[in-house]
Amino acid sequence: MRSVPFLAPGLAVDFSQMKADSGKTKIATITIWALVGLAVLILAGLIMFWPRKEPDPVTAWREGITAQVGALARKDWSAATAAEGTESLGAPARITIHHSGAGIFSAIDRGTVTSAIKAIQDTHIGANGWDDIGYHYIVDPFGCLWEGRHLDRIGAHAGSLELNRGNIGILLLGNFDLQEPPPAQLERLGDLLAVLQGIFTIADSEIYTHNRIRIMEGLTPTACPGQHIIEWLESRRKKR
Ligand SMILES: [Zn+2]
Repeated sequence: MRSVPFLAPGLAVDFSQMKADSGKTKIATITIWALVGLAVLILAGLIMFWPRKEPDPVTAWREGITAQVGALARKDWSAATAAEGTESLGAPARITIHHSGAGIFSAIDRGTVTSAIKAIQDTHIGANGWDDIGYHYIVDPFGCLWEGRHLDRIGAHAGSLELNRGNIGILLLGNFDLQEPPPAQLERLGDLLAVLQGIFTIADSEIYTHNRIRIMEGLTPTACPGQHIIEWLESRRKKR
């Protein structure tokens, strides 16, 4: 009978068992690391090859134009979501300019401006029962440009469905019978018109004041967009 000297038989150390245990631990460690590595590879593969959701062509077109004109997004003025199913704008072929009218508006701080735009949307959706804010763009007195109704959707601003077809509606915040338009606001309006005219090949003769397009169609006249803007648009046409 073999026994290890100096140790009681029960306390004998079985070195062959220790070797076997250490071998098992190594195998377990290697297996864990192999599994971790495999998981990392699978995760990386999923990230790299997971099909990305491309925006639909209409959204991509619209977002492209918004970027070209440099408009602040609807979310920047906390726009409510537009109703689905609004008729398409059709090919943009003309532009109509409006003012917000009512009282003088000369605020340039972001909070007051965004509240004013939101209030217009609330009226257009709530009181008028429209799908969204009626205008495609809004220019504030500081010269910031804001995205209004999605440009691929027909607006609600000129006076009739027929007049709104292919008609981009631009709203200037202010009353330009009562106040002079700030230079920054006019400059931004001029830039916006030029960019839109360039993109869609719109002639100067296809830029209307709200009053002019209404009269042209035999509708009742309106003070919109105010005498100062009417004069500015006339002088712009002469200069070009
Ligand atoms: Zn108007």
